Amino acid sequence: MTGKLYIHNSLTRTKQLFEPLNPPFVGMYVCGPTVYNEVHLGNLRTFISFDLIYRWLIASGYKVRYVRNITDVGHLENDADQGEDKISKRARLEQLEPMEIVQKYTNSFHQVLDIFNCLPPSIEPTATGHIVEQIEMTKAILAKGLAYEVNGSVYFDVKKYAEKHPYGILSGRNIDELISGTRDLEGQEEKRNPLDFALWKKASPEHIMRWPSPWGEGFPGWHLECSVMSSKYLGTKFDIHGGGMDLKFPHHECEIAQNCAANDEDPVRYWIHGNMLTLNGKKMSKSEGNFILPRDLLYGTPPLVDKPYSAMAIRFFILQAHYGSTLDISMDALAASEKAYRRLVQAMKELNNLKSGNISTWDVNAWNFECEAAMNDDFNSPVLIAQLFEAVRVINGCKDGSQQLDELSLNFLKKQMHLYMIDVLGLKPEEETSGKLNQLEAVIKLLLDIRKSARDRKDWATSDLIRDELLKAGIIIKDGKEGTTWEIN
Ligand code: AMP
Ligand code: ZN
Repeated sequence: MTGKLYIHNSLTRTKQLFEPLNPPFVGMYVCGPTVYNEVHLGNLRTFISFDLIYRWLIASGYKVRYVRNITDVGHLENDADQGEDKISKRARLEQLEPMEIVQKYTNSFHQVLDIFNCLPPSIEPTATGHIVEQIEMTKAILAKGLAYEVNGSVYFDVKKYAEKHPYGILSGRNIDELISGTRDLEGQEEKRNPLDFALWKKASPEHIMRWPSPWGEGFPGWHLECSVMSSKYLGTKFDIHGGGMDLKFPHHECEIAQNCAANDEDPVRYWIHGNMLTLNGKKMSKSEGNFILPRDLLYGTPPLVDKPYSAMAIRFFILQAHYGSTLDISMDALAASEKAYRRLVQAMKELNNLKSGNISTWDVNAWNFECEAAMNDDFNSPVLIAQLFEAVRVINGCKDGSQQLDELSLNFLKKQMHLYMIDVLGLKPEEETSGKLNQLEAVIKLLLDIRKSARDRKDWATSDLIRDELLKAGIIIKDGKEGTTWEIN
């Protein structure tokens, strides 16, 4: 790969030349999911964005250590250290052990990412696997005088820290504004200042997830795990830290403060934040009930989804927007992407059968330069995709005889189209899975038609038999005013 890579650094709010600390090695840390429920399409967008970034770094010749954590303790319902632990709460609701919840949703997260062809990270550490290190970092921050213990909990002293360090640099917030903007929440009385955040929380008697510590039994605060695991696996200073935009404050701001306090080093050289996926113009969010699950799209679950979409068409839809822009999902936009994606796949097939000519009417090298330049310009996948459509135009031209490519150019085009489509954008050929889905859809439609005619004849036995047998096979059917719909359980 040639060319220099420029990255929009959220810390400096400028595009900067990417210069890794120890080339060709690159250390990248991305905040992973809190595994208490299924990831929604918004979460998936963020993981696909960083998958694209990871893939481009690899394609550029870097040896990347990609660390993405699993949050399996410490993330409370309210980001201000309040409420029940999200995992404990879910365990209570589902009547499972917290670790069963963690395993269940970690498995489901891996499955989803695999379906959407995201490469696994090099290391996937868990918060519960690093309790000892989290206690050590808490001790280090206490020793620096930048944290205090109250009644078995330890809080980071933001005001004290801010005397010497710029708290708020990442999110662009000023500490005085932050203080005046915080509400006095119930249960926050232990804190000297509402901006302070927990490094370690004392476990109440009913709290299940608890570990012994020098301050009594408790559990780590949410922000601490990422400081601990990034510095453990990537060093006290590393190249890239990523996550969704909504994590800038307080999570990433607190991470910077913890690392600076414990290690006297500003940890991250390039902060990258993915922008939000929105639904009806509002951030997709589970807690707001404003979300679509990946499988809703794969199976075409009504009422939000009109028909099944293939995983690669959805991935393509996501990559058609730059990771730094918001993206609103609608069925119309998705259908348009699906159509465009099919054209691209079709052209890839035709490319394989093209015969070379004596001369080239198109400069493949210049085109390839543009493709590289797009990705080197802050991983600009929409511009890369536009370039791929430029290649589609030429491929179609070669087919109808209005263009031709000599052997060398044709082979280079084939190689580079493979590189950009499959290795960089991660759009793997998927006839097999989408074919199976179409078959399933056809079979269920047939069964629903048979059931409808049974019901018209008042043959309830047959109608119920079909419903019950489908349910046993994991397919739920629902009769509504607008007819019968189905979804996979
Ligand atoms: P969580 O499990 O809530 O910590 O979220 C996992 C990742 O998904 C984080 O990086 C979030 O920033 C990201 N995320 C959450 N909601 C959205 C959204 N609507 N669009 C894009 N990314 C999101
Ligand atoms: Zn994190």
